[in-house]
Amino acid sequence: MKRTELFTKTRKNAPADEVALNAQLLIRAGFIHKEMAGVYAYLPLGLRVIENIKQIVREEMDAIGGQELAMTTLQPKDIWEKTDRWDDAKVDNWFKTKLANGTELGVGLTHEEPVVDVLRDYVSSYKDLPLSVYQIGSKFRNELRAKSGLLRGREFLMKDMYSFSRTQDEHEKLYEQAVEAYHKIYQRLGLGDITYRTYADGGIFTERFSDEFQTLSEVGEDTIFVDEAKKIAINKEIMTDENIEKLGLDKNTLVEKRGVEVGNTFHLESKYTDALDVYFADEGDNRQSIIGGCYGIGISRLMGVIAEHFADDKGLVWPDNIAPSRVYLVQIGDNVDQAQTIYDALNEKGITVLWDDRNERPGVKFADAELIGLPHRIVVSDKLDGQVEYQSRTSSEHELLTIEALLAKLST
Ligand code: ATP
Ligand code: MG
Repeated sequence: MKRTELFTKTRKNAPADEVALNAQLLIRAGFIHKEMAGVYAYLPLGLRVIENIKQIVREEMDAIGGQELAMTTLQPKDIWEKTDRWDDAKVDNWFKTKLANGTELGVGLTHEEPVVDVLRDYVSSYKDLPLSVYQIGSKFRNELRAKSGLLRGREFLMKDMYSFSRTQDEHEKLYEQAVEAYHKIYQRLGLGDITYRTYADGGIFTERFSDEFQTLSEVGEDTIFVDEAKKIAINKEIMTDENIEKLGLDKNTLVEKRGVEVGNTFHLESKYTDALDVYFADEGDNRQSIIGGCYGIGISRLMGVIAEHFADDKGLVWPDNIAPSRVYLVQIGDNVDQAQTIYDALNEKGITVLWDDRNERPGVKFADAELIGLPHRIVVSDKLDGQVEYQSRTSSEHELLTIEALLAKLST
């Protein structure tokens, strides 16, 4: 990709009303556009970041047998009434709308009920289970406060998986498998060391705890208590002497921290399937309840967390596997041919490049390279004798490299 073919530009200032660092940087670098509070469009560079995060999540969901589908945003009221989640008194952040004839509709904020409703058509026997389905798409929630940029959207991207099992035992295995997959995802996103499995409230339908995945952050809205040695935490919301004991934790080793909830997994028991009247017949042809689990990950929230966590005072700093392109190619002067040769050689190796081919001063290009935050910067200039100058975004060291040495460095 060439800068002259990219319609977005960088800018000095974010909108005055944007207080969150993640959104300020992402807007200034041209990754996202603020439509209104809590609602952001993903521009070409931002969309690539989203796609990279989605791909990692997708690979790990596929690896544990998840089948991808896409549910609808428009929701019929009746299935939500069956679980008593339609009433605003029960769920207070629904966006709702109406058909021309007055029929009320919901705007999808989660998808347990509609997914169970799909199962109705396909699951009747023990042979049809267990199964897990997932989707990655937009969710809509009428959040009270939406001042944290991508960390709290009113329209945001979530991966949500739903598992359905024949027995409690089968459910527990799928659930722990999903938790393992979550750990792998946060590890691959570069957040593994600062993301804790955190015991939290289980939701309205179960006595059990849910597991939140909390990434440590000063700007986190949640207060958690961390056991460093066990690499586990407990959300302040359920922090009672009784619960601490139940979880086998020790009050004296727990340290208070702030976290951003980047994922949440729940035991649903058979509350949704029973309420929607979806059962299976076991081997003896007896009607049995289906045990559910649900597993969310905040895709767009993760983009905000990664942006904010790795950033420095000069701008964004993307890990290699999340960056919209790996290399920022700064062309100084008129040497298009040399830049083109390097651009082609990198592309041929599958190394993605953003080529700054604009007619701008070097200082402008360097500042953009820092703000946009691609992991590797290379400079092509007449003064370098056919070599290129290489610099990593996270280091102040420069190296002069031949094209061969550059390719070798970036291929590892
Ligand atoms: P929160 O407590 O932060 O409001 P939640 O517990 O209501 O979140 P879940 O229903 O568990 O959220 O959704 C699954 C995941 O989706 C969350 O762990 C979070 O990463 C992400 N998420 C939830 N709400 C938002 C939001 N408003 N904006 C961005 N991501 C969100
Ligand atoms: Mg949650």
